Amino acid sequence: MADITTDILIIGTGPAGSATAALLSTYGVENMVINRYRWLANTPRAHITNQRTMEVLRDLGQSVENEAYLFATEQDLMGENIFCESLAGEEIGRMKSWGNHPLSKAEHQLSSPCLMNDLPQTFMEPLLFKTACSRGTQARMSTEYLSHEQDKDGVTTTCLDRLTGKEITIRSRYLVGADGGNSKVAEQAGLPFEGQMGVGGSMNILFRADLSRFVAHRPSVLYWVMQPGADVGGIGMGLVRMVRPWNEWLIVWGYDINQPAPVVDAAFATGVARQLVGDPALEIELLSASTWTVNNMYATQMQAGRVFIMGDAAHRHPPSNGLGSNTSIQDGFNLAWKLAAVVKGQAGPGLLDSYSVERAPIAKQIVTRANQSIGEFGPIFEALGMTGGADIAKIKASMDARCDATPAAERQREALRQAIAFKKYEFDAHGVEMNQRYQSSSVVADGQMEPSFELDAELHYQPTTWPGARVPHAWLYDAEGRRQSTLDITGKGRFTLLTGIAGQAWATAADKVAKSMGIDLVAHVIGPRRALADLEGAWARAREVSDSGCVLVRPDHHIAWRAEELAANPAAELVRVLSAILDRDAAAHRNAAQ
Ligand SMILES: Cc1cc2nc3c(=O)[nH]c(=O)nc-3n(C[C@H](O)[C@H](O)[C@H](O)COP(=O)(O)OP(=O)(O)OC[C@H]3O[C@@H](n4cnc5c(N)ncnc54)[C@H](O)[C@@H]3O)c2cc1C
Repeated sequence: MADITTDILIIGTGPAGSATAALLSTYGVENMVINRYRWLANTPRAHITNQRTMEVLRDLGQSVENEAYLFATEQDLMGENIFCESLAGEEIGRMKSWGNHPLSKAEHQLSSPCLMNDLPQTFMEPLLFKTACSRGTQARMSTEYLSHEQDKDGVTTTCLDRLTGKEITIRSRYLVGADGGNSKVAEQAGLPFEGQMGVGGSMNILFRADLSRFVAHRPSVLYWVMQPGADVGGIGMGLVRMVRPWNEWLIVWGYDINQPAPVVDAAFATGVARQLVGDPALEIELLSASTWTVNNMYATQMQAGRVFIMGDAAHRHPPSNGLGSNTSIQDGFNLAWKLAAVVKGQAGPGLLDSYSVERAPIAKQIVTRANQSIGEFGPIFEALGMTGGADIAKIKASMDARCDATPAAERQREALRQAIAFKKYEFDAHGVEMNQRYQSSSVVADGQMEPSFELDAELHYQPTTWPGARVPHAWLYDAEGRRQSTLDITGKGRFTLLTGIAGQAWATAADKVAKSMGIDLVAHVIGPRRALADLEGAWARAREVSDSGCVLVRPDHHIAWRAEELAANPAAELVRVLSAILDRDAAAHRNAAQ
């Protein structure tokens, strides 16, 4: 007999674990989250918060989304990605980033009701954790996962209560390993990985100093300092990252991974800060210093029976593109509704198999992208002459040479311009953030080919209602002219059917099917003199089906299925599709066979 029982046990209160706990509690599912420490994030590691993540927070409730904006640095202050010799020294170039180029900003605004922002992990994690606890999650701090064993009915996890020094057992129906980049859960579950850990060494130096005079006129999250001899994460430069504008900063500075990690004391940290800021008299208030490694590894399978992994436990990569915490929270959004449906008896266990099928390719994609982004600094180094070894005089001469009035210098300037512009694949990769499409048993194909990307799929989000894609954002209006996004009327732990006036029969059928199958399914008929009208025509342009067709949206905003036009028997169609997605047929067969 275990000491504690719960439906879902989550290991880790980081962005992945806290988001999953918050979602499960919102869906009314009993869950417990544990953390081996007694604190939440104590350094501001993750910060870039993309629109897709904000949509998850919005789905948790307006108050959660609003609180994030309240503590975040707004998008307008994120945008001038600066390359310089030092903050006080010469600026080499810049590129507008994180949706701040006017063309990119338009794409951002057309794509989502939410805004990208910079929310340090020290704010995001408590927000998600508080949301979870206030909605019923049992949280146990100072509790360390040691091991687990699963059988056909559940999982028994052994933990160390670090307050008493005693071992406790927790029995759950499912176990979620959100225990970070050194995941013990993944290891114990024997999940397969590809790639390599520890490909570079980095240190974080967190400090307070008012640097407004160097930066306020060119607001940015990241200031890349190209200095001969400076080195960060194997990429050959120092990074000064804004944590709070403009008086709290994080310097990221590399060290040789083949050597022992350096001891970063106040004198060392002050020296690094003075060098990168370019002010030999700078005084800093050192808040903390830590070391971490650059990893290049992802799980090819994120599920072993009743055990799932998510977040850094499954994808381990450098901070480039700011994808870590974002993807971790989005993993939770994918898994939580599936766990809820199974625990509530609305779906068979087969639904859970789609988690790994859908998210493992994303893990591979983002680990590959983040590591590729590091390599893509290469052309900048080349253009500045920083690739031929650490001969400081030679590098200085090459950097000076770009200012000459010679054809060679002109070529050098052009190469540098192109190299900086190319960094949009790291600093403005809207497609990487928003184009995730799933193919699995919890998506039912409609016989149409996947629409090919007309623009670069990494740079540009391309909306589609092709099953597996995220529902496109369009503003809809109620009778008083108040607007709601398609993202607002979908999600919230339930399936949603969207149709036009000619598709009223779909909505009627959806109500019946929801009752007969005992599932959470709502329908919206969109059109004039209905509860929601498509006054701008944005939904009609985005939906890719006729007015009598329908789009069925999963609780995580992804399209489950769509129909071009009204079916002869809409209820039968919905039962067919939902049974396939929710593993209901299979469950019935299994029950009958027992
Ligand atoms: C310098 C830097 C900058 C970054 N910038 C960004 C960014 O801009 N955007 C972005 O999205 N990401 C960024 N990241 C990455 C981001 O911090 C991680 O991807 C994110 O924290 C992963 O969340 P997680 O919940 O999976 O794991 P973690 O945050 O690592 O949380 C793991 C949790 O598990 C707990 N735990 C571990 N082992 C046990 C155990 N045995 N028992 C009990 N509890 C355990 C831990 O205490 C912790 O609560 C950055 C990272 C760094 C280092």
